Amino acid sequence: MTRLLVASRNSKKLAELRRILAPELPDVEVIGLDDVPAYDEVPEPGATFADNALLKAREGFAHTGLPTVADDSGLAVDALNGMPGVLSARWSGRHGDDKGNLRLVLGQLADADDERLGAAFVCAVAFVDADGEVIVDGRMPGRLIREPRGANGFGYDPIFVPDGHDVTSAELDSADKDAISHRGQALRALVPHLLGRSSLS
Ligand code: IMP
Repeated sequence: MTRLLVASRNSKKLAELRRILAPELPDVEVIGLDDVPAYDEVPEPGATFADNALLKAREGFAHTGLPTVADDSGLAVDALNGMPGVLSARWSGRHGDDKGNLRLVLGQLADADDERLGAAFVCAVAFVDADGEVIVDGRMPGRLIREPRGANGFGYDPIFVPDGHDVTSAELDSADKDAISHRGQALRALVPHLLGRSSLS
């Protein structure tokens, strides 16, 4: 079976990518970084989500020779001038400390007016194989609440209410989140670029 590498070790993110890509690419096995020999991973030094996604996808392809998808995503908050942005995963200082990141953002918003709690999850997805590179993106607008709610999802989901909903993205089940999420939109935009690609057939 043809393999598609997702350059991530985040099991929840990997599961999300598998859920969205697998039905579109039934003959492709979607694997993660834990399924390939380890290589030195560069941190995420880019100024934009697209820069970081492309770096990670290029790196995965260079080290494994496998067609590689990578995403970079984060939360952009109006009252924080678009931050934490590309620093979302390490906003509180330690990469992947979801609870610490969420608490810090809530603390920073303590004095912000409610009307400045607009926010969006943003995602760039890059794909690299021997035939070239593709970059797509997605955005889920919404607003933040001050008390976390819900146990699904990860990261800032418990304080994010997507536009058109009155529950947080941590209260949505995974299929409902995929249908509207920034990553879902970006991945669905990527699929037409993957179909018929020689590295995946
Ligand atoms: P990445 O792995 O560098 O893309 O980090 C993305 C970070 O942004 C995560 O650690 C979360 O803090 C946040 N994030 C991105 N997408 C989501 C989402 O769908 N829900 C909640 N938080 C997210």
